[in-house]
Amino acid sequence: MNAPEYLRRTNGPRLLTLDTLMGERHASWLELFFDLVFVLAVGQVAKILADRTDMIGMLRYVVLFVPVWWSWVGYTYYADRFESNETKYRIFTFAGMLAVAAFALTLGNAFTPEGDMPFVVSYAAVRLVLIGLYVRSAYYIPLARALSAEFIVGLGTSVVLLAASLLVDAPLRYYIWAAAILIELYTPFFVPRLTRALPIDRSHLPERFGLFTIIVLGEAVIATATGASSVQWNAITITTAAIGFAMAACVWWINFEFVEDDAIKSRSLIPRTVYLYSHFFIVSSIVAIGIGVEHAIKDTGEAHLHLPTLSLLGGGIAIYLSAVTIVKLAAGVCRLLFVRIVTIAFSLALIFIGQFLPPFVSVVGFFAILVSGVWLEGKFGEVRPREEGTSALDPCEHSAGATVFTPRSTGGCEECVKNNYKWVHLRVCLECGHVGCCDSSRYKHATKHFHKTDHAIMASLEPGENWAWCYADERFVPLHHYIEQPSASS
Ligand SMILES: [Zn+2]
Ligand SMILES: [Zn+2]
Ligand SMILES: [Zn+2]
Repeated sequence: MNAPEYLRRTNGPRLLTLDTLMGERHASWLELFFDLVFVLAVGQVAKILADRTDMIGMLRYVVLFVPVWWSWVGYTYYADRFESNETKYRIFTFAGMLAVAAFALTLGNAFTPEGDMPFVVSYAAVRLVLIGLYVRSAYYIPLARALSAEFIVGLGTSVVLLAASLLVDAPLRYYIWAAAILIELYTPFFVPRLTRALPIDRSHLPERFGLFTIIVLGEAVIATATGASSVQWNAITITTAAIGFAMAACVWWINFEFVEDDAIKSRSLIPRTVYLYSHFFIVSSIVAIGIGVEHAIKDTGEAHLHLPTLSLLGGGIAIYLSAVTIVKLAAGVCRLLFVRIVTIAFSLALIFIGQFLPPFVSVVGFFAILVSGVWLEGKFGEVRPREEGTSALDPCEHSAGATVFTPRSTGGCEECVKNNYKWVHLRVCLECGHVGCCDSSRYKHATKHFHKTDHAIMASLEPGENWAWCYADERFVPLHHYIEQPSASS
């Protein structure tokens, strides 16, 4: 199976998300392979919760899920902007996978005197490989240098803090960890202008988030099966397990039918940010619901579900539905807000009421909440006109004047050639076809051409690059036509 054309490039990473001619982009085979180590990592955090469902266990679960999820997000956003088919990129990705796998195995012993060191070292390795990737994008892509530097500084600070944390004892050590992860979570917002200037891919990222959601749903199904395999099978345990599986199916339904990808596809940063951070609660609550089902199956012989089991189910469902609601609000398409709040409140109330009900009745109650969620969304969900286009870039008032897609000279920067100067990269004016050198070149003839003529829109003439820039508006704009590359012979 051949890789898509846009990934073919031999000399270093390239910036994919400015390319409005690329069309729909899907998860690559490498990304699907990469996700497999997160099956392991999610399984390890889930095990923490499955083994210990008291407050300490739940707290550990949430706290340890954050770096697991944020590692996935870090690599996923990098691949969204800079994925390529070159061997070095693959080796970096494999190294990152290995580090994540090692990190996954240290999760169970984190927060213990002997477990802290491997935990910190392996997590630092996960970050160092990603820093290495950003060093490459900074080196090869001048356009991405500032954004890459932002991530190198943010992740680098985290690694330094993590290393320093090993020199001090708990609890100070854990405060330093918290500071490190908070810095990482905030890194994309050091300079929001940079994050906005190099957009994400509006067709690719929602698919990636969907795939991570499938991983956590898989974990929920495994938890249900684990519960079912640990009890004597009778009518009650079998039915409870079947309902547990049906709950996972409802969660899938709500997520893939009704969670709004419009939020991540938005051109403004706020809905995208809400979508990103809400997904932590979506994925962590799905696993919690699965572990809740596992314990519910084990509790079927008791007078009522244990309080931790009720908390996992009621709390998990409430958090899941809340996060879904927040994503919908961010996308600006949230109807039935009152009904949603009532449903969430009912789920929380069942944590307390469940202590007076037989286990099976509580399980049916939680199931009914999820089924009503699916039913309500399907019946009263909003139908919106789909937004046109997949580009995250807006055209500007100068876009109409950009009509020339054939460079008028084929020998390089027109002024540089005359004077026998050297240049770095070439740009073409889309109003007259003038070919000039980029701002990394000594004489910046493309920019000078804009100041002389007011021709605002230029495009890159570098092979494999399809992006356009408006000098007047100082931002990237969609490129609607391939630039005809000058042939060397003419
Ligand atoms: Zn413009
Ligand atoms: Zn020049
Ligand atoms: Zn021009």
